[in-house]
Parts: sequence; structure tokens; C-alpha cells
Amino acid sequence: MLRREPASAEVSLGASGLDKPIVPTEVPLFIRFEREMEDKFRPLMLQELQRKVDELADSQRGHRPTCTECDQPMQYKDETPLSWLTRFGKVTAKATLFLCKPCETKRRPVLEMLGVEPGQVSGSLARLLALLGVIVPYELAAQLALMFYGVQVNAMTVWRSVQRLGEAVEQYTNALSEYHANINNDDPPPLDAPDAIVLGVDGCALGMQVRENRRRRKTAEEKLGPLPEVEDGHFREVKTGVLLLPAERVTPSPGRRSVLRRVLVTYLGNADTIFDRLWAKLQELRWLGPNTVVVIVGDGAEWIWNRATMFPRRCEILDFWHAIECAWKFARLQHGEGSKIADKWTHRIAKKLRDGKIEQVIAHLNTLSGTTEKAQEKLEDLIRYYTNNQHRMHYKEYLRLGYGIGSGAVESAHKQVVHARLRQAGMRWSVAGAQRLLALRLLLLNGEWAFLDRLRMVSLAKHAA
Ligand SMILES: [Zn+2]
Repeated sequence: MLRREPASAEVSLGASGLDKPIVPTEVPLFIRFEREMEDKFRPLMLQELQRKVDELADSQRGHRPTCTECDQPMQYKDETPLSWLTRFGKVTAKATLFLCKPCETKRRPVLEMLGVEPGQVSGSLARLLALLGVIVPYELAAQLALMFYGVQVNAMTVWRSVQRLGEAVEQYTNALSEYHANINNDDPPPLDAPDAIVLGVDGCALGMQVRENRRRRKTAEEKLGPLPEVEDGHFREVKTGVLLLPAERVTPSPGRRSVLRRVLVTYLGNADTIFDRLWAKLQELRWLGPNTVVVIVGDGAEWIWNRATMFPRRCEILDFWHAIECAWKFARLQHGEGSKIADKWTHRIAKKLRDGKIEQVIAHLNTLSGTTEKAQEKLEDLIRYYTNNQHRMHYKEYLRLGYGIGSGAVESAHKQVVHARLRQAGMRWSVAGAQRLLALRLLLLNGEWAFLDRLRMVSLAKHAA
């Protein structure tokens, strides 16, 4: 609370005794300067852009293209002006239409040369809109587009940009995965590959759209009822795979570890595909040499260990925190919620595990018996969990080798890929819609956004959402 100077007689106070805050009427000078520049030069940029388009159209005047189908010279048809939206506003081209009478092929060479589609947004604007749509919901992205780029678009335009570009990335990723799935296509393993790489996978369920068609309001007043509960089968699992080099792990402050680089892979659907994609990525990165150890950190889910066998030189690690969590569950039931004994006991187990004494821990657990039926059940679960994963719990050794013992980096990466954008309140997705958005999010988070320039937007008509 600010201490107020005693009010002078002239100042009238509100009922609370506070002055109304005074807002300066003037916007600071430099802010006005900057905005002035934008207002002044934006129209000039549009003019210049239009001039370049006109110049190209003029240079093509008189040229008669040949038909792409039958190689015959084409006939002049018309010259309707067509426009599209760019970063600086709407641009129009007098793009001559040519027709091949025998086969009815139509061409507009000027638009072909420019690589633009009338009535759509330009490629550069589509990429900027997609960038926003990848970070925030489409409605908000449209608002940001106006603030950031000065371009007025609706949420649907942002959505379409994400779909068309995301589909291009998705198709490329699939093709790359298929290519590397064929062992004959792999290059000879790199001899300078890292000694060890860490691979982790995490997953979560995503709510899928229940209805075939979008719900539409008949009138503005008619309110939509609450969304139906998402039933079983209307969830799909998104899986995120993370690859990192343990050698690159740094300790910015004691007890805190972070990684400089991590490479992400994602897939909405089955487990085999995420591993195919991880394999393809490892080949592209040239990280998998003849002596590279693949360190696989998992929470005990069988589908991960089953597929880990594709790496002959591997080290399987049961995530340390999952191992401790399981001990906690028993301790709470045995000694009561919040009891000091439970706390001490679990810490002792954690210390023993970290010291590489898994056999001792299991032997100790076998001497115990549950105080209640529930506690006994949990104790048996715990013994089974540790016994089954014993060979994945040599934590002292993993720490010595610098492999790490937790899947924290994997979990946080997964949250960044999925939760931060796709798991907000009330969100429901179509499979294609979510997959395309994920494909773009991955490019951004992997620092590969510029790669998008090398892909062609996919037409949605052929790949309906
Ligand atoms: Zn033809």
C-alpha cells in the first residue's frame, strides 16, 4: 500500500478517500514515432509488392503457354483480376487464363510462377498465421494476427493455414519414417556417433470430437447445450518421444540438471509408429553408431520395453521417481497418511536405491508384512514391481555413467508439446486436426520452423479434415 500525502483542499476525493488515478493523455513520443513509421511505410510496401506483381504480369503478356497434358499451344480465354491476401494487404493480378480446347486444361501462368492461390492467403502470411495458431487457440491467434502483423483474418483462416502446412509436414514425416523403416535405405552407421543417447517416451490421452459434424447455432440467441461427456473410445493417446545426449547435460545450479538440446518426435496413435519415427529421426541425426548405447528411460509400461528391443545395444532404466512413488503408496497405507515414519522409511528406500542396493531393498521388503489387507496388497505390488524391474534399477551405475535416472526431461517435453496447446479446457480434436497441429508444434519446439519454407502447402480438398 502506498502512503498518501494529505489531500489538499482543492482535490476532491472519492467515497473511499482515494484520488482517481490520473492517466496521462499523451502516448509517449517514441511509441508514436514507431507507429508513425509503420503507418507510413506499410502502404508503400503494399504498393511496391503490387508493382512487382504487375511487372511480372506485363512481362508475360503475349506469351502463350503450352498445355501440360498434350503439349499443344493453349488459347487465350480471359483476364479476370484475381486477388489474395498478403502480409501488407490485398494484392491483385491480371492473370491471363489459357485454355486447351482438346483436353480442357486451364492454366494461369502468372499465378503459377508466383505460387499463389486466388482468394487465399499468401504463403508467407500463412506461415505467420500458422505460427500463432501453433502457440495459442485459433480465435486468439486471429486477434494476435491483427496486433502483430496488422492483418485482419478470422479464426478459420488461421485454422486452414495450420491444416495445410501441418499436413505437408505430416506427409513428409510419414514418408521419412517409411523410408527409414526399410533397413536397406539406412546409410552405413556413423563412426563418430555419440557413445550414448537417452530415449524416453511419454503419453497422454486427448479428447476426440464425438460428433461427425460441427455444432452450429441456428440463431445467435440459441445457446448450445453443454458438450457431451467424452466416452471411452473418444480418447486417443498422443505419444511424445524425446532424444537427448547425456554428454550435453549441464548442471546450472546444484541439484538442477538441464539439457542444451533435445529432439522431439510425436504421434497421435499406436506405439509402433512413434518408435518408427524415433528410428527415422536417429538416422537423420546420425546419432546411432555401431557402439552407441541407447539409454531408455521408462515408467514400467510394457509397450516401451517391448519396442526397446529394436536397439541391440541398450540400457533400460526404470524412472527413479516412479520407483519411489510406488514405495510411497505402500508406506502411506502401512504407516498412515502424513506419518513421519512413512516419510523416513521411503527416504531410506530412496537412498538405498540410489546407492545401487536394489537386492537389499527387495530382501528387506520380503521381511515386511502389511498392517492391513490394503497395505499387504500394496506391499505385494511393490515387491512385484521392483522384482520385475530389478535389472533396470542399478541407479548408482547409471549416475556414474552419466545416463541420469529420471524421465523428468521427457515428461516436461511432452507437456510442452501437448498439454500447453492441445489439452486446454473443453478442447476436442479431430484426429487429422490434432496430428497436423502437433506436426507444426514439433517443428517449432525442435527449432526447425524454417524447414517449413521448403514444403508446399497441401490442398485441403484432397485431404479433408
Ligand atoms: Zn491439352
